[in-house]
Amino acid sequence: MNTLVIDGGTLITPEVVIKGGRVVIGEGTIVAVGALGATDFPAVAEVIRADGLYVCPGFIDLQMNGAAGFDVLDGTEEALTAIARFNISHATTSFLPTLISSPIEKMTAVVKHVRNLQRKSVSGSKILGVHLEGPYISPAQIGAHDPRYVRLPAREEVETLLDYSDIIRVITAAPEVPDVIDMCREFVHRGTVASIGHSNATYDEVLAAVDSGFTMVTHIYSVMSSMMRVGPRKVAGVLEAALLLDELSVGVIGDGFHVPEPFMKLVLKAKGTGKAILVTDAIRATGLTDGKYVLGTNEDERFALVENGVAMTPDRTLYAGSVTTMDVCVRNAVSLGGIELKDAVAMATINPAKLIHMENEVGSLEQGKKADLVILDRELKPVYTIINGEVVFKRGCTQSPV
Ligand SMILES: [Zn+2]
Repeated sequence: MNTLVIDGGTLITPEVVIKGGRVVIGEGTIVAVGALGATDFPAVAEVIRADGLYVCPGFIDLQMNGAAGFDVLDGTEEALTAIARFNISHATTSFLPTLISSPIEKMTAVVKHVRNLQRKSVSGSKILGVHLEGPYISPAQIGAHDPRYVRLPAREEVETLLDYSDIIRVITAAPEVPDVIDMCREFVHRGTVASIGHSNATYDEVLAAVDSGFTMVTHIYSVMSSMMRVGPRKVAGVLEAALLLDELSVGVIGDGFHVPEPFMKLVLKAKGTGKAILVTDAIRATGLTDGKYVLGTNEDERFALVENGVAMTPDRTLYAGSVTTMDVCVRNAVSLGGIELKDAVAMATINPAKLIHMENEVGSLEQGKKADLVILDRELKPVYTIINGEVVFKRGCTQSPV
């Protein structure tokens, strides 16, 4: 594999922003990152000029259900490939295909299928593992999930799921549901991130979950308990715990609707930019026009209504995932959160990489890491996407990339 050099752009690294920088890539890995004068490269290298552009690590989406007419739960290679390929035009270089609550046999089969495809390596953005969002959630915070599939963790099925803990990177569950804490302790022991979500837990129940190894809260401000009254007494819920406890990172759906400006500012004030993680929660309708779309699997007959780019349950009382993309999430974090680009990029790159223990491979422009990069214009729109040192997307180029 030839050397690829990205020259002249503004490099967004975790610590500093380097204007007029250079990234040297060889064998799919970042060989050098620095100012133009400080790095050499072989004369035969291919050079991409990035003057006036931003060069960032590729974005990592920890919660993505679908796009381009497909849902991860379709369980086909065609679906997963279409979603992964959709991602590359929106700066996402790796993601966790996310499964909402479904029949447990179906979820297990899809996880197995994704593991096989991951080994085979589909084209498009990398699959870092899967995110199981349910089915062990609270019926009281069901959101757009199907109540028929919400359940308690039966020992047998937990044993089966644990066999896939190598690929289950995140499991969203409600810690107040019986046996969930014990189950998640086992997952955490095997390296999976346990995330509190669709949960009606009290503050004390969240503390117990944190003690048992939970390190994340799924889509903050959505389907979670907040201040409750027991008689005259006030009890904090998942929301307050998420904002308060430093042990917990929070997933932030960055579509601009789930977390409007004051909420975005509040979460950044409470968590800092280091513990906030941008996710899309994108559904099948992402990248398509307004309309009615199947939510989850085809046989479920559950729908999301998309109107003016907002996905809702058919009665329009709740959001049903989003139709956003990671590039939009980063733009929104800057505009709604009032933060620097460097920090918004961290929310989409090094923060999720650290949470799922993959920061040695992906998530930043650093020597020795995989060469997963995006080049953005001044409006933060993707111009190039590079995965393992190969250009997989170039704006305006619909055929095979350069
Ligand atoms: Zn959800």
